[in-house]
Amino acid sequence: NLKSGIVGLANVGKSTLFQSITKSSLGNPANFPFATIDPEEARVIVPDERFDWLVDHYKPKSQVPANLTVYDIAGLTRGASTGAGLGNSFLSHIRAVDAIFQVVRCFDDAEIIHVEGDVDPCRDLTIINEELRIKDIEFVNKALEALKKQTRRGGQSLEMKKLKEEEATTEFILKFLEEGHDIRSKTDWTPKEVEVINPLLLLTAKPVVYLVNLSERDYIRQKNKYLPKVFEWIKANSPGDPILPISAQFEERLTLMHDDAAAAEECKNLSTQSGLPKVITTMRKVLNLASFFTTGEDEVRQWTIRKGIKAPAAAGVIHTDFEKTFIQAIAYNYSVLRELGDEAAVKAAGKIMTKGKDYVVEDGDILLIKAGA
Ligand code: GDP
Repeated sequence: NLKSGIVGLANVGKSTLFQSITKSSLGNPANFPFATIDPEEARVIVPDERFDWLVDHYKPKSQVPANLTVYDIAGLTRGASTGAGLGNSFLSHIRAVDAIFQVVRCFDDAEIIHVEGDVDPCRDLTIINEELRIKDIEFVNKALEALKKQTRRGGQSLEMKKLKEEEATTEFILKFLEEGHDIRSKTDWTPKEVEVINPLLLLTAKPVVYLVNLSERDYIRQKNKYLPKVFEWIKANSPGDPILPISAQFEERLTLMHDDAAAAEECKNLSTQSGLPKVITTMRKVLNLASFFTTGEDEVRQWTIRKGIKAPAAAGVIHTDFEKTFIQAIAYNYSVLRELGDEAAVKAAGKIMTKGKDYVVEDGDILLIKAGA
């Protein structure tokens, strides 16, 4: 199960947004079995029209959509990397997530104090990026010191050669960070470099989705005086990362209606819609995930996998034992089912395949796993 964390300076709207996510019908439908929520953790449904279609098609007794865990990570301040505020404990929480939602305040409100004195989203973005990068530098430095201790012994063994290579790569990573770059901003790391980077769990390597928090008015009219500069900043410093305008206050107002129909009516009247579904689907995209489905009259279920994994690993997501005992998978893609109308037609067209251990599961596959003792 993949985890994401909401990060940002104090008073930018993180908690408001988190609360809206947990309370919206998106996150908490009555038939969702995993909706147990504690104050800082929520599991939300990932909206997917393929799943909705399958449920409509099979009308199963039970349905289990895909979900994503979201954490509200409080406590980022200037100087957190050197222990200010909640400092290090906060940073270790970020280390534990797979991806980051970074909330940036772009709303003016004299009543809501800004910890830095005034509203200046680009300055805030710089503070947070620097805190995360400083922490990474510290981490890579430690790793480098440990490596140097080992390579000091010298020698020509194969193991030593490998350690020296790792040391050189680590030095390169350190320099890259010190020059002011985030790890994720470089997209052509070699597989060898990735092997060194991954175990370090670096903060600036994690995918980021920027959530630009606007007033309700600005969100609805899709206009805000800070936005052009924010887009520019992200393009220059964090190229490729998605940016989503959102209004925490508006989302909060919708959820407080406690009535989906009324909320929908309100959105219609304002010619707008909730930004939350897009927040979740975008996060899923940057996490590079794919889905497969299991279907039938008893249950329709959407399973989450990393892109590019093989059938036994996918089977292991259903049940750990299945990975080892995997025999074969009966497979066809959702797109084929959708095109031909029903399973019988897919079968008649000869499009139901038997796949072995080396089959790379495709996004949208409908699988029936056969596994044995
Ligand atoms: P956090 O410290 O980042 O978690 O911020 P909170 O979500 O607790 O929000 C801080 C204050 O700002 C609360 O009083 C919110 O009601 C308010 N707030 C959040 N989003 C908006 C917004 O879009 N507009 C305005 N005016 N206030 C907001």
